[in-house]
Amino acid sequence: MNRRPLIAGNWKMHLTLAEAVRLARAVAETCGACPDRDVMVAPAFTALAPVCEAVRGTPLLVAAQNVAWEKEGAFTGEISPAMLTDIGVGLTIVGHSERRQIFGESDAMINRRLLGALAGDIDPVLCVGETLEEREAGRTFAVLEEQLRQGLHGVSSEQMQRVVLAYEPVWAIGTGKTATKEQAQEVHGVVRRFLAGKYEKNVAEATRILYGGSVKPENIDSLMAQPDIDGALVGGAALQAESFDRIVRFR
Ligand code: PEP
Repeated sequence: MNRRPLIAGNWKMHLTLAEAVRLARAVAETCGACPDRDVMVAPAFTALAPVCEAVRGTPLLVAAQNVAWEKEGAFTGEISPAMLTDIGVGLTIVGHSERRQIFGESDAMINRRLLGALAGDIDPVLCVGETLEEREAGRTFAVLEEQLRQGLHGVSSEQMQRVVLAYEPVWAIGTGKTATKEQAQEVHGVVRRFLAGKYEKNVAEATRILYGGSVKPENIDSLMAQPDIDGALVGGAALQAESFDRIVRFR
């Protein structure tokens, strides 16, 4: 199965408007030089519209970092799928571990966000991952299966064509500790087997599963050489044009 690689940058709560537009333009140039892979950036909400404007006509994909499930209404602090499509955003991250851990988002809420995105023409990138405590207790696969079971509740095989998964071990995010390529491949294999059980084998084979957690220019090539790693979700190293450029140009 030939899955098209996706390299995604999560800018989190970083960059001024001018910095975001400058970085997006640089990434769009890199992206134009790598036609065999998809490249995505997820700026903060305030920079989404100007970044969309700045890269219009280029292949760079622009994503939100989260999305609400309703079209409009009394949801202070939230952004709807319709608001995103209105400015040209086509994707969103959901279930990032920072949303789960700092803001208390549950699997049920993340599922609502994911279904809301799908219903509103926004393709979701669903993040899952275990904490260090869970890994050390030997619960990695049980935790991931539960996050996937609840996160993908009510998602049809057809809708799965629009869903990207990201395995992000919490202990590797922003810590400089990367899962080894063997650890990452093992989990990606388990995630794909879960998909084959829940859906058909061809859905499991077609779904892109990204790895995230301290991805850097130094480790991207060996991660991407693993058979079940289809791309990367990158935090810190996505904030500099040069390091993200090297990651996008993985070999
Ligand atoms: C992330 O934010 O999803 C992430 C993986 O961050 P970092 O690359 O900095 O570990």
